[in-house]
Amino acid sequence: GKVDYKSEQRFAEHMSGKMEASSEFAKLKTIKEQRQFLPIFAVRQELLNVIRDNSVVVVVGETGSGKTTQLTQYLHEDGYTNYGTVACTQPRRVAAMSVAKRVSDELGCSLGEKVGYAIRFEDVTSDATLVKYMTDGILLRESLREPDLDNYSAVIMDEAHERSLNTDVLFGLLREVVARRSDLRLIVTSATMDSGKFASFFGNVPVFHIPGRTFPVDILFSKTVVEDYVEGAVKQTLQIHLSPAPGDILVFMPGQEDIEVTCDQLVERLAELENAPALAVLPIYSQLPSDLQAKIFQKAPDGVRKCIVATNIAETSLTVDGIMFVVDSGYCKLKVYNPRIGMDALQIYPISQANANQRAGRAGRTGPGQCYRLYTQSSYKNELLVATVPEIQRTNLANVVLLLKSLNVRDLLSFHFMDAPPEDNMLNSMYQLWILGALDNTGALTTTGRLMVEFPLDPALSKMLIVACDMGCSAEVLAIVSMLSVPTIFYRPKGREEESDQAREKFSVPESDHLTYLNVYQQWKTNGYSTLWSNQHFIHAKAMRKVREVRAQLKDIMTQQHMALDSCGNDWDIVRKCVCSAYFHQAAKLKGIGEYVNVRTGMPCHLHPTSALFGMGFTPDYIVYHELIMTSKEYMQCVTAVEGEWLAELGPMFYSVKHAGRSRQENRKRAKRELSAMEEEMALAEEQLKARREQ
Ligand code: ADP
Ligand code: MG
Repeated sequence: GKVDYKSEQRFAEHMSGKMEASSEFAKLKTIKEQRQFLPIFAVRQELLNVIRDNSVVVVVGETGSGKTTQLTQYLHEDGYTNYGTVACTQPRRVAAMSVAKRVSDELGCSLGEKVGYAIRFEDVTSDATLVKYMTDGILLRESLREPDLDNYSAVIMDEAHERSLNTDVLFGLLREVVARRSDLRLIVTSATMDSGKFASFFGNVPVFHIPGRTFPVDILFSKTVVEDYVEGAVKQTLQIHLSPAPGDILVFMPGQEDIEVTCDQLVERLAELENAPALAVLPIYSQLPSDLQAKIFQKAPDGVRKCIVATNIAETSLTVDGIMFVVDSGYCKLKVYNPRIGMDALQIYPISQANANQRAGRAGRTGPGQCYRLYTQSSYKNELLVATVPEIQRTNLANVVLLLKSLNVRDLLSFHFMDAPPEDNMLNSMYQLWILGALDNTGALTTTGRLMVEFPLDPALSKMLIVACDMGCSAEVLAIVSMLSVPTIFYRPKGREEESDQAREKFSVPESDHLTYLNVYQQWKTNGYSTLWSNQHFIHAKAMRKVREVRAQLKDIMTQQHMALDSCGNDWDIVRKCVCSAYFHQAAKLKGIGEYVNVRTGMPCHLHPTSALFGMGFTPDYIVYHELIMTSKEYMQCVTAVEGEWLAELGPMFYSVKHAGRSRQENRKRAKRELSAMEEEMALAEEQLKARREQ
């Protein structure tokens, strides 16, 4: 027939208009272009060939070259997802979530379908999931159920240079899995050049370098020692911002508190200046709600400079394009085992030279950049370590020991670690597990220990749950453990501190912070889990919803393990005793007015001002604490009053009951018992354990 040229043209115009108007199409188009612009794209086929020919490949490439977002997709496109899932592990939760979101956008599907993620207490995957981002901890736990990781056709162990504890343990395990499964592909990625070590660990496997595209970065050291890095960073950032040079700014701070202060100060000082150009100040740290996290990737309005204030999450895990200036405080937060307090503590430490160089590199991705270091050249050279000590060599290993024991790794000291943990660390962690009854005298897993492995919790918390079942208060303890597994419940907004503190006090159970948490949970439940109620009482509604999710998941595990869910009603003394059974090794004794000392070490420790016990005029003789935090002094966080007898009953390896006074009568009169720390006995037990291990 006759072609109506005009109408055909109109139709074409109509269609193209439609497509242009469809933002989805526009987005896909630019995303495709973005993907092809990444350095990894240039070597795509070559890389896939190497992966096809080798069970293990180490991939090295600058941050931002496309390793995390592209590798999974390349493997998917190359057919690996036809016979299994492609996994990509991340040491950080934020990275797993954020990258999964990005990749689902790139693939044009919603999160949790083809692309999903799993982090502790949050599984956003489905049967349709082909590409799964996850924390390394999750994969480690999965290997408990599925030692050969049969569900996976390829595993990318991302951010290997970070040397997180779980990644290091996975290295040892996956090395064996790859030997058993010739169809599995293992790809280890690193942003730095320490690749040789990884390659030789896996048996001299190939190292694939992604050619980089980096620009020179000017490094500017501070001439004098910077006393206050927050103040220093604010000044430096403003100076950059008020100069005409274009480009976004990335500021590195050690943690959330410093980030918040820095952001506030920047906004405040800019407001004081007349005619200052606008600056979009954006924080990023792990506890920031994910919708706010996503903001760092969004384009600022035209002509507005972006200033991102970040923890070391932005060092290699997340890349924001357009950064031309880096301001480096020189500090980061690290979890380090503190022998003085007998546990891990998150503290601020100077970064390593490797960190410093990564941070500087962020300024040279899109063009030549500048990095302002808030420390002197001589402290860089003489004081900073060349590289950060791997986590496995500086933290408590109790969870790792539990896990490996349940994987039937008999001799932990000869497990194939890339860098073995110090023997003392290992023995100390085993000792802690022995105290909690998870290991027997021969160092083998007990029934309690076996049960503890099932829970994705710290050993003390899983112990508390298990004991609660025997004591008939598992419903209460389940709520408490769930409350302790989310960051912050109480909301303390600026300018309304007093009001919120008063609201908080209304929940206080005078003898226990744990019971205070229980009280909050129960009241929230009574009020129909209401958001309005939460807001009215200065309680984070979102955190409470998370508590409920965590509780549901822990409850599922309890059901699987045939653990009963019983309530003790109003008899909360039993709950306190249960708390004591998990924390007797962290006990403090009243000495003087409102002053406590650690029962075992005699070290002074203080009630935290936010504690329900603080300033209530009620100062019990003995308390146990959940953790110690160290700021200006040692604070006990989350404490519960306990009876002295309980400590003796539940922690006989530490404490014995001594009768004070001379006569029996006096004893009875006083009825007060005093405990003494059995340091010798403890040392003896440790020796025994060590001797057994060496046999
Ligand atoms: P690598 O893992 O090699 O450091 P990535 O795969 O993380 O590199 O990053 C590749 C590109 O994807 C970068 O340009 C980065 O800015 C971009 N990108 C990653 N996540 C997001 C996101 N959530 N939103 C927008 N862009 C992103
Ligand atoms: Mg990456």
